[in-house]
Amino acid sequence: MNEVCLRDTVLEVDLDSIAYNVKAIRKMVGNEVAIAAVVKSNGYGHGALDIAPTIMENGGDYLAVATLTEALELREKYEKYRIFIMGYTPNEQLEYIVKGEIIQTIFSLEQGIILNELGKRFGKKPIVHIKYDTGFNRLGFQDNDQSIEEIKAICRLENLHVEGIFSHFALAGVDEDKLQYEKFISAISKIEEDNFKFKYKHICDSIAGVNYPQYRLDMIRAGAIIYGLKSYRSDELKLKQAVSFKSKIYHIKKIKKGEGVSYNYKWRAPRDTIVGTMPFGYSDGYPRNMTDKGYVTIKGKKAPLIGVICMDQSMVDLTDLNPVAVGDEVIIYGDGSNNSVSIQEASELGATNKNEIVCRITRRTPRIYKKSGKIVKVLNYL
Ligand SMILES: *Cc1c(COP(=O)(O)O)cnc(C)c1O
Repeated sequence: MNEVCLRDTVLEVDLDSIAYNVKAIRKMVGNEVAIAAVVKSNGYGHGALDIAPTIMENGGDYLAVATLTEALELREKYEKYRIFIMGYTPNEQLEYIVKGEIIQTIFSLEQGIILNELGKRFGKKPIVHIKYDTGFNRLGFQDNDQSIEEIKAICRLENLHVEGIFSHFALAGVDEDKLQYEKFISAISKIEEDNFKFKYKHICDSIAGVNYPQYRLDMIRAGAIIYGLKSYRSDELKLKQAVSFKSKIYHIKKIKKGEGVSYNYKWRAPRDTIVGTMPFGYSDGYPRNMTDKGYVTIKGKKAPLIGVICMDQSMVDLTDLNPVAVGDEVIIYGDGSNNSVSIQEASELGATNKNEIVCRITRRTPRIYKKSGKIVKVLNYL
């Protein structure tokens, strides 16, 4: 039995689209390249726990997250999946990694030693991937000889399984990306001189994984493309956006020309206007800077938002639409068809990127999961 949905602002997630995307990615990379499906930030807003099985049953090999808390949430529900933290975990929290059999990124000999010891203490052999910085300058061993020596020392730790080494592209352009790739390969070959082999070498995220087949190595870390969010020009990969963000009209009123709407009367009616009020705002993840730019879609027609976007509510100009009633459905984001705002367009209007548009959708918005057009789960976080 599904829970009753007690909110009319909802995020619908089409599990068939996610399955389709994972299969398409598998087809693109072939069977020799592993897919680490990136489900950080609650699965880019889609709900990590409820999309994980769809991902893993359709070709995903790893679930990759950014933080320990995200990893533990997944581990609590899924005993078997391989869960990989791509970010840093402080020393004092590393025992949770070992106990939870989570694969951890490290970029210091110190953490290698700590994990090696914790493994002994808990009777486990922790698995790590080494992060190697080839120029992004965020996390990782810096590209120099001392780092190579330290990595070799990590690889010699007996109770540690050094399964992979990875880097991350800045995507600053074809030439600079190539330079990063070459630095990475050169460092790996120096480390592997020592009779050591990494099972997984990886440097590609979604964009690089699509644009640079020659750089895929043993694994890609695919985030955006799992969700059908495209950020590249290649037509090789056909994807389906998995989410639609929906709400309803809760209140309708007529106002006179010259009256203001919302804070500061930043918007004033240029004519007699029919105003609709909808129960979503920036607290639901709708960008406040959509003020004066955003629109929603009602019965297939575009309707401009008016006035400053509030925390919990937004207003829409209904004057030019056929009669709209309280309770009518509003499409906040759709797949771009039927005049809906796609995630791509939302990112342009909101002056951000597609990943931010979806991952900022908060827990106040219930997730509704669909399969074969039917609702299979309603998830009320609150
Ligand atoms: C988030 C992240 C990814 C996935 O990025 P997409 O552009 O969404 O594919 C890959 N690698 C690392 C290290 C990340 O932090």
